[in-house]
Amino acid sequence: MKNMVTDTHPTRENWLQELGNVITDPLALLSFLKLEKNIKLRQGAHARALFPLRVPIAFAEKMTPGDPKDPLLLQVLTLSDEFVHTSGFSADPLYEQAAVLPGLLHKYRNRVLMLIKGGCAVHCRYCFRRHFPYQDNKGSQVNREQVFNYIRKHTELDEVIFSGGDPLMAKDPELASLVTVLESIPHIKRLRIHTRLPIVIPSRITTRLCESFSNSSLQILMVTHINHPNEMDQTVYNSMYRLKQAGVTLLNQTVLLKDVNNNAEILAQLSNRLFNAGILPYYLHLLDKVQGAAHFMVEEHEARQIMKALLGQVSGYLVPRLTREVAGEPSKIPIDLQLLSYSAP
Ligand code: SF4
Repeated sequence: MKNMVTDTHPTRENWLQELGNVITDPLALLSFLKLEKNIKLRQGAHARALFPLRVPIAFAEKMTPGDPKDPLLLQVLTLSDEFVHTSGFSADPLYEQAAVLPGLLHKYRNRVLMLIKGGCAVHCRYCFRRHFPYQDNKGSQVNREQVFNYIRKHTELDEVIFSGGDPLMAKDPELASLVTVLESIPHIKRLRIHTRLPIVIPSRITTRLCESFSNSSLQILMVTHINHPNEMDQTVYNSMYRLKQAGVTLLNQTVLLKDVNNNAEILAQLSNRLFNAGILPYYLHLLDKVQGAAHFMVEEHEARQIMKALLGQVSGYLVPRLTREVAGEPSKIPIDLQLLSYSAP
């Protein structure tokens, strides 16, 4: 499958145009997919008031017209289920709204998370930051100076994570200047970028971005967010190839989502496609219990069974770590699979 990589557009810089080419009206999305007559789906359109709908056309084109259960559609479509108030779910499941500084979270000892941009190219309905007060955490120049001073003072840090929203919403010159500041801080060795943007708009991986990564003295890791094999097409492969050429380590995290990917065959297919694109499956997260997303919940006992089946289908290095995040804990919590009495070959 190595020959799936064919980079025919090495200099594309049109991602900003694609970023503006989005569907924001749920009814327009239904119409785009020839589902405008589906009354149940139409009734869910009001949920845009809870969290706006946003879907790049390039991502909508990967969905199957006429299929109300398309796994990519289910991730982005407003549903009436979002109005159901579920006990145990909250607006801030990871207590993130207590940032140490505006735009900076310090949850784990050796690494901090910088909120680079509040916006995203796509709005995922299960997002644990769907209620996050981004307006209070804008990456203004003043905040950035405070953030960098904090990082300089905390010599126990060796890694900075760019998050958001989606950090790749920042334009290339802004990202390059942030990288330059981090390079000047001796104890920072690694930069990790968590992003979904190259999956929904693959042209985001520009020549300039790749150059700034390949010229950096930092080790650069990119953690893509891909939940279903249908999200990966030739354009995604090409972009990942360019990142690999720039020396970027590629990992993926997936959220386990009911009716989207809670199935070992789908996850096996995803792992294989990720590997073909040079990405290692890293985490499979249980859903963070954010209010409005309970209909995506896959319980832990089901997740264990899925993992058991997955272990029998792919090589051990293609099995992501099943984890959940618990507010206040010093790291993500791996879910012990030994209880399953099964090990990967
Ligand atoms: S791209 Fe990430 S941060 Fe943005 S809505 Fe989706 S899950 Fe949330």
